[in-house]
Amino acid sequence: MLRVGLSGGIGSGKSTVARRLAEHGAVVIDADRLAREVVEPGTDGLREVVAAFGEDVLDAHGALNRAALAAKVFGDEQALATLNGITHPRIAARTAELIAAAPEDAIVVHDVPLLVEKEMAPLYHLVLIVHADVDQRLARLRGRGMAEDDARRRIAAQADDDRRRAVADVWLDNSGTPDLVLARVDALWADRLVRYEANVRLRRHASGPPIVVPYDETWPVQAARVAARIRLAAGGRRVEHIGSTSVPGLAAKDVLDFQLAVTSLDEAAELEEALTQAGFPGLGIGEDTVRHGGDDQSRWLKRLHAGADPGRRVNLHVRVEGGPGWTWAMRFRDWLRADARARDEYAAVKRELSERHRGDADGFAYGDAKEPWMDAATARMDAFYRDGHTS
Ligand code: ADP
Repeated sequence: MLRVGLSGGIGSGKSTVARRLAEHGAVVIDADRLAREVVEPGTDGLREVVAAFGEDVLDAHGALNRAALAAKVFGDEQALATLNGITHPRIAARTAELIAAAPEDAIVVHDVPLLVEKEMAPLYHLVLIVHADVDQRLARLRGRGMAEDDARRRIAAQADDDRRRAVADVWLDNSGTPDLVLARVDALWADRLVRYEANVRLRRHASGPPIVVPYDETWPVQAARVAARIRLAAGGRRVEHIGSTSVPGLAAKDVLDFQLAVTSLDEAAELEEALTQAGFPGLGIGEDTVRHGGDDQSRWLKRLHAGADPGRRVNLHVRVEGGPGWTWAMRFRDWLRADARARDEYAAVKRELSERHRGDADGFAYGDAKEPWMDAATARMDAFYRDGHTS
């Protein structure tokens, strides 16, 4: 099962996108609809709302009068907390029920207007944001019959584009005609979501050839998103963005590397299932190959995981915090961040080797070929820290 979070400002075209995903077979869970369902006539939810706020929140037919209720909670934090205390647990329970009822190979799309505001992004394998400019959204909402000042008020109450961009794994621009965005949804479904779902279910990671590309300014933001997911799956443990993509200016394979801190390899093994479910299947035990002087080799063991998303490759090294592998990775990153000459030299070595190993589908031969340079670099790095630099 793949969990996709879908959001976007009001009028951006979120419902249009959700409908198309449903046509492809996605199980769409509409958070707004559930919010209405839990207070429909005849529900416990509505009875509790009436008990807390009085009969005057009902209309003549005994249904909830939203405007009357809104007037009672507006600007009153305690009243709002009371209302949320009634509705939120019911919405959450119903959402969990619908997810549990979905088939094992489902692509579940959770349509949540306030996904960004409620900081829900790390819960999903992928977050999809639909975007259109404010003026376009106002025009479309007018077309749907909403009064302009009402539309403006709703837009102002929502997150801004910068916050949305930060959590978007996929940014779907809907400023063109509906056909354009729907074609992009079709491609996203076939090229990414279907393959991602299969990978998660079958515990496969995404792979690709070791092609070195110029430094990408968006790597830190992408890394922050992925790190938040890993951290959540790993019970809040420390996650560090490491490797070439963590060094500004350095050319690299488009694969984000992370290390997750554990206190022992046994603890790493206990996290395997949660990380796999979160989209980072385990590859077993690995050994860090850069070693120095007579260290006990078992201390260089780690558990390896890799990302299942075909649109965002990730390597995840689960290492004992403060152990030699952990420390080496942090020092190597910080040395390359500090030393422009080493950075340029490393980029040249990587480019040459990636050219030579173009046909290497998983990058292992490329990785091995880098080892001699890495060994020499480790000695230079040690000298750098001996000279009084601190990591
Ligand atoms: P949301 O769910 O984000 O509030 P909707 O999907 O309901 O937005 O879209 C808002 C309105 O704009 C709807 O009437 C919809 O038909 C229309 N709409 C959506 N996408 C486009 C587009 N690309 N061009 C023109 N109108 C659009």
